[in-house]
Order: sequence, then C-alpha cells, then structure tokens
Amino acid sequence: MRTKQVGSSGRFGQRYGRRVRLRTATIEKHSKAYHPCPSCKAKKVRREFAGVWRCRKCNMQFSGGAYSPSSSIEEIKARFTSAVVLQKTKSPGQSQEESLDVV
Ligand SMILES: [Zn+2]
Repeated sequence: MRTKQVGSSGRFGQRYGRRVRLRTATIEKHSKAYHPCPSCKAKKVRREFAGVWRCRKCNMQFSGGAYSPSSSIEEIKARFTSAVVLQKTKSPGQSQEESLDVV
C-alpha cells in the first residue's frame, strides 16, 4: 500500500505516528532505489539484505551500510584505514615515494 503523504510506510495504516512513518519512508525509498556501482559505475546496485549490496550488471557483491551502499561510518572507516596504511609505509627503510602511492 502506498499513500501520497507517507509513501511506502502507508502499509502501517494509522499506526506509529506521522513523523515516524515519514522517516521510515525516506529510508526505504533510499534503500530500495538503484545506486551507482563502485566497480562498473552502472546505476544497478540494489540491496540484497541489510548491509549487503549487489550490482545487477557485473554481479559484484559488497558490504555497505544497512540502508545505503555507503554509510557515514563506512567513510570514516575508509579514512581511518588509509591513515593507518600511510603511517605503516612511513616506517624507516622505506622511501617517501612509496607512502605517496598509497594516497
Ligand atoms: Zn557493477
């Protein structure tokens, strides 16, 4: 069931309140939409189940956010990982050029 005001959360009928239903609808709209693929760039990525996404074109499966392919926590994680890699490559015995390749 779909309504003009609350979209997909119209299935809840009059329950839970308008605000909660609106919030649910926004998340569902995003999680059920097609997203760009990080591998082939096609807008064919759909959610398999919570946290797992699959590209319908190249069939690549990858982990991400529960409701979106890349959540804010994923971005923080990626930034942190690259920082750790950078620190490790800066250890003595390695040239400056190698650490620049990581970035
Ligand atoms: Zn793809």
